[in-house]
Amino acid sequence: MIIQPKIRGFVCITSHPEGCAKKVAQEITKAKATTMSKGPKNVLVIGASTGYGLSSRITAAFSCGASTIGVFFERPSLKGKPASAGWYNTVAFESETKAAGIYTKSFNGDAFSNELKKKVVKTIQEDWGKVDCVIYSLASPRRTDPKTEITYRSCLKPIGEAFSNLTLDTSKGLIETISIGPANEEEIEHTTKVMGGEDWELWMDALAEGGVLTEDAKSVAYSYIGPEVTWPVYKNGTIGTAKLDVERASRAIKKKHGVDAFVSVNKAVVTQASSAIPVVPLYISILFKVMKAKGTHEGCIEQIIRLFKDRLYEGEHQCDQMGRIRLDDLEMDPQVQEEVASIWPKVTTENIYDLSDFAAYQKEFLELFGFGLEGVDYTQEVEVERSIENLVD
Ligand code: NAD
Repeated sequence: MIIQPKIRGFVCITSHPEGCAKKVAQEITKAKATTMSKGPKNVLVIGASTGYGLSSRITAAFSCGASTIGVFFERPSLKGKPASAGWYNTVAFESETKAAGIYTKSFNGDAFSNELKKKVVKTIQEDWGKVDCVIYSLASPRRTDPKTEITYRSCLKPIGEAFSNLTLDTSKGLIETISIGPANEEEIEHTTKVMGGEDWELWMDALAEGGVLTEDAKSVAYSYIGPEVTWPVYKNGTIGTAKLDVERASRAIKKKHGVDAFVSVNKAVVTQASSAIPVVPLYISILFKVMKAKGTHEGCIEQIIRLFKDRLYEGEHQCDQMGRIRLDDLEMDPQVQEEVASIWPKVTTENIYDLSDFAAYQKEFLELFGFGLEGVDYTQEVEVERSIENLVD
């Protein structure tokens, strides 16, 4: 079929297999250009099909030559409709690892469940014996607790008082004012259940109980802090509270299992998860303009290559006072933040393309779904049904 983008609010409900393959190939080229003298051998990536998790898998495989097991929740093609972007990304990743002779296995299912954890541990026991690096990069709106079977939903709300600020309707290019009422106790608790550190801890418990963690194993979960303008809805809101719980989990994992468990605070980038957060797409559009002018702009792959090479394997971790790795150092540069803050109050629907890099935001958003990539002929019919060869049932 001929596939065109169909945008509904902050998601695109179609995706293009050739475009996704092109985007994955671009990241692989960047990862291959970085060789590392030291690196992991066997890497488990939880949330491996898009965004930061996909870049982690690509870096592990193509900068370090590591075997990878990837876990994700993606939709295959059904009734002639395109699969989700993460599905096609994985098809492309597997075809490149096959060509390079790199071990790859993938699990498509609910990472929060005990069943999936058991299957992954069994595969590690059988295929690798041990895993030496675990990347936790899930972003999900809901989670079913495997013990109680209760399903929790996360929300993106301020805590304590209502919040009002400029936001960008990315599908219409409109600058609007958004007002969000404060979360109640239940919403705060539920968001922590979904996006907090409990599931990361359960994964590390399952791996330790299965006897598959090497003595020098490292694990990293990703987090975000961002600028003051987003704090009411991010750092000091429901999601920020959940992220504090991820920091608690890192300490618990270190203590229980002796694993070097880190939280890495990454830069704001365009992903399926970040496009759903109010205010953040406007901030990202302005940030891109400022960081590109300074020559410090990075996407997921540049961030993760820097994480693996400079912070995890070749250089020092350079943790902050709270023990977190700060890959957001270039974003949080005071000069960058001052410039963003000076642009922020001036931005309107009329000047959004001049004062920010909204054009790049839109381009990157479409690219997440395999659209707008150079060298792909979008007028051609494409086969939507593609299988992930090394998918474990
Ligand atoms: P993303 O939406 O691109 O990726 C989410 C991944 O989680 C996908 O692989 C998806 O398949 C998987 N997933 C979701 N629910 C699942 C489930 N139930 N079972 C198995 N897999 C599931 O997200 P992202 O933006 O790359 O975010 C990853 C992490 O990075 C998050 O912790 C996020 O807070 C953090 N982070 C993101 C940004 C940003 O700007 N996007 C910045 C800093 C930190």
